[in-house]
Amino acid sequence: MSDKKIPRVALPDDVRLDTLAVREGLPPSAWGENSEALFLTSSFRQPDAATAAARFANEEEAFIYSRFTNPTVTMFERRLAALEGAEGCIATSSGMSAILLLGMGLLKAGDHVICSVSVFGSTIMLFGREFAKFGIETSFVSQTDVGEWARAVKPNTKLLFAESPTNPLTEVCDIAALAAIARRAGAWLAVDNCFCSPALQRPIALGADLVIHSGTKYLDGQGRVIAGAICGPEQLINEKFVPVMRSAGMCLSPFNAWVVLKGLETLSIRMEAQSARAMKLAAWLEAQPQVERLYYPGLASHPQHELAMRQQGGSGGAVLSFIVRGQQQGGAALARANAFHVIDSTRVCSITANLGDTKTTITHPASTSHGRLTEEQRQAAGITQGMVRVAVGLDDVEDLKADLRRGLESLAR
Ligand SMILES: *Cc1c(COP(=O)(O)O)cnc(C)c1O
Repeated sequence: MSDKKIPRVALPDDVRLDTLAVREGLPPSAWGENSEALFLTSSFRQPDAATAAARFANEEEAFIYSRFTNPTVTMFERRLAALEGAEGCIATSSGMSAILLLGMGLLKAGDHVICSVSVFGSTIMLFGREFAKFGIETSFVSQTDVGEWARAVKPNTKLLFAESPTNPLTEVCDIAALAAIARRAGAWLAVDNCFCSPALQRPIALGADLVIHSGTKYLDGQGRVIAGAICGPEQLINEKFVPVMRSAGMCLSPFNAWVVLKGLETLSIRMEAQSARAMKLAAWLEAQPQVERLYYPGLASHPQHELAMRQQGGSGGAVLSFIVRGQQQGGAALARANAFHVIDSTRVCSITANLGDTKTTITHPASTSHGRLTEEQRQAAGITQGMVRVAVGLDDVEDLKADLRRGLESLAR
């Protein structure tokens, strides 16, 4: 790139994250709009043929075509990068296409990946099945046993991929420890930061090279659009990901970028409020006699509570899971019937597998997000038929308690 750069927002160098969340992006257009503009345009006019040539040759930074860059998308990228403490960011059409871009940019046939066995289901499919078709081998290892990651390293290991906390068991991995393993192996560490968002957890500060986002979740925060991103070092993004984006086109639409950009403005207060509600709901659920087990990193009963508190800025996040009584009395069938009863007795919660919405969502992982697994795989992953996942939104927590109490108190005996 030449010194002709797309300009930056005029802000003091030392402004803090909450300020960046509402102001980082691009300077306003010639009209001086205060709210960021939505640039719904597929291409950009060039002043003359020679300038167009210079811009296409990357000698001058400018907007050309919205598969490469678009001002609204750039605003989202800059703002998310600032929040993650990353130099750069590249936005993608979905969280999954961010991981696709990650693999296409960093890996080639013959390379080896180490990935937690507990990551998002589609991520397992992408590494285990799709990338495998192109000669990339993935070893799936324990979410929590750092030793397994270290032992899985091979001479051709290029990438470690982790997610924390996981869905639906909220298992936490030690990001700093994995970063040390990656560094020793000369591999990159990428962390899917979807569940915490940068409001609670900044993997780059813990040593990760790259952060993956599904913007669909907390970044949007209101369940409106599908979006994704990779954050990381500017040079790596320019060398490895920008060329793939130009050729493969998994770009974020400007409209979706605008929605998520505006979502980032309220991210930290939403995460704070939703996590506080989740903490209250989790503590209440744990005390209910019909709840066999509760999974929430904010509670002392969570096996990695201390690590989670250290890594997630003292917050447990806004997702919790619990096992409804039944398995011991009547086996998997009763456990499933009881879980369905609790879900179907709600009148406030939305029955949907999405999360990160202001509306609290409730789901039965064993028959939805993890329905593609065999019963054996589910057992191994600890996702039993009695499990219910709640992604706490901004509903009043007393209404949520009443919503769950209705089903719990009327369970079949
Ligand atoms: C939803 C999700 C994804 C995939 O994101 P999409 O935007 O739906 O493609 C990836 N990782 C995690 C942890 C998720 O929850």
